[in-house]
Amino acid sequence: MCLNQQRFCECGGSSAFLLFRDNLLGPEVLVHLYCPECRGRALWDGARMLADCGWVLEFDLERARALFDVRGVRVPATPEHIFDEGYLTWQGFSPGDHEVNTRLHQRLAPLIEQDLALYLKSLKEQWLEHVARLKAAGWRKAQQA
Ligand SMILES: [Zn+2]
Repeated sequence: MCLNQQRFCECGGSSAFLLFRDNLLGPEVLVHLYCPECRGRALWDGARMLADCGWVLEFDLERARALFDVRGVRVPATPEHIFDEGYLTWQGFSPGDHEVNTRLHQRLAPLIEQDLALYLKSLKEQWLEHVARLKAAGWRKAQQA
């Protein structure tokens, strides 16, 4: 099971839905989260931060290392690895994907009783269109999609 969590950025103007693969790392490993509006507050340090389309995640790598060690997980505690391998990352492909997905399901829900096949087809098509837009915009996780 993976823990999901909504986290507000430093300025409180935006929030991101986060995913913690296998619950290995906890929310405390993300020391700071900056949105495009407040990222100016971050003193950039590529050794412990990861940038994604204007957002910046700052990790406590010592804590991540310790948590990996204690659970016997032999992986490098780097921002790229933690993020790309899903140990502490966006739920979906971008900070707001959880909400986008929920709204999409709500919008198409009336179709379920009318035409289930059309519902499933529309759901898949519209989600893929969304992911294609994220990919074009440069979101890191969407590049592998
Ligand atoms: Zn912010």
